[in-house]
Amino acid sequence: MFDPTRAAGLEALRDFVPRAGSAYARQRNIDTGPHRTNVSTLSPYIRHRLVTEREVVTAVLEAHSLSAAEKFVQEVMWRTYWKGWLEQNPEVWRRYRQDVAELIDAGSADTPEYRDAVSGRTGIDAMDAWAGELVETGYLHNHTRMWFASIWIFTLRLPWQLGADFFYRHLLDGDAASNTLSWRWVAGLQTVGKTYLATASNIARYTEGRFHPEGLATSAPALSEEPLPPRSPIPSVETAVSGERLGILLHEEDLALDSLRGEHPWLDGGVVAIAASADAEARSPMGASDIVRAFTAGALADGLDRAAPAATALVLGVDPAAAVVEWAAAENLDTVVMPYAPVGPVEERMTALRAGLRDGGIALRAARRDWDSLAWPHARRGFFPFRTQIPQLLSQQGIPASPGR
Ligand SMILES: Cc1cc2nc3c(=O)[nH]c(=O)nc-3n(C[C@H](O)[C@H](O)[C@H](O)COP(=O)(O)OP(=O)(O)OC[C@H]3O[C@@H](n4cnc5c(N)ncnc54)[C@H](O)[C@@H]3O)c2cc1C
Repeated sequence: MFDPTRAAGLEALRDFVPRAGSAYARQRNIDTGPHRTNVSTLSPYIRHRLVTEREVVTAVLEAHSLSAAEKFVQEVMWRTYWKGWLEQNPEVWRRYRQDVAELIDAGSADTPEYRDAVSGRTGIDAMDAWAGELVETGYLHNHTRMWFASIWIFTLRLPWQLGADFFYRHLLDGDAASNTLSWRWVAGLQTVGKTYLATASNIARYTEGRFHPEGLATSAPALSEEPLPPRSPIPSVETAVSGERLGILLHEEDLALDSLRGEHPWLDGGVVAIAASADAEARSPMGASDIVRAFTAGALADGLDRAAPAATALVLGVDPAAAVVEWAAAENLDTVVMPYAPVGPVEERMTALRAGLRDGGIALRAARRDWDSLAWPHARRGFFPFRTQIPQLLSQQGIPASPGR
């Protein structure tokens, strides 16, 4: 269903643009099943930046006024908002990783209740179908993700972290920020005290009668947690390159080197080698599904091929940090530059990578996109204050947005 190439992402974008205006706003909450056309299904491409948020929003605003496409643009900006929020609250990710590891160690992913939920045997018609769809296709509709998370937490009373882990292992668009923070939002941890309750009537209505789930929880009491530490500043990025031999390291968070170079001309000088590294298995102690691993590997190969058709280095899987250090030493590099890695598994890998490169006298630098640098500082409080910044953010980036009526 999803071909892991930029060409396929661009084709899907072209196909969807005419439907991104008022039709999207009216119909986006309906889940008609796997052959849906009312939403873009662009998320696997955007998540790896095979196609960038900027390209998606620009294409849509060339065809529609901002007021007609407001809903769609806002949805894309939810992704940016979540990433900016997590960047300033990395403790949330650290706790989530620790909780998942501890729950698995304690056998919580080995109970009959957990096994029934992930293999479609709960007896709740909708849940069972969605678990199957997720595992088979690597995608679920947004409304369905909300219902699924709500039933997991409040009806099945399973730990939210293991539900997020199940999604993360199977979603082609699995993303540290969007996934973890959306699950927290349903559980009442993100907007403290405000939960999302899935109801049978809402599910029947928005699935056009495909499902009539029975026995759903009738209340959704918010979960609680230890208070979070104060927000931390967004890490600054150093762009000074040391030495003459520069290597670029692509990774699964950003595979659009051409447009990154357009924003950072210093990436052009002195580049002698390009490599790509990914580790889909790092999503969870239980790894990632076959289709996630295949999509990530395919996306990486496509990104590397577009960046440097003659490049030979493609580093996947086991201990990618060690493999990258070896590559940098073999290429005799002075500096390795990566697209900026936001909070998540790639950023976790960078700690080992930075130390390994430092030992070899090689510097590590990151290039962050203006899209992120401009928007993230506004992701301090809720989405609603963030949303008011959208017209200004678009204009700062030179994206023409006619206001419309
Ligand atoms: C419990 C839960 C878990 C989720 N996990 C992820 C995840 O791991 N990765 C992920 O990309 N999205 C996640 N989402 C957000 C959203 O469900 C998906 O981005 C969306 O369904 C993707 O389908 P689409 O491309 O057809 O979206 P469209 O409706 O066509 O939206 C266009 C794009 O906007 C972005 N987007 C849309 N809605 C959201 C949203 N609510 N939050 C963040 N970005 C959004 C996506 O990049 C999407 O491709 C999650 C939502 C929930 C409720």
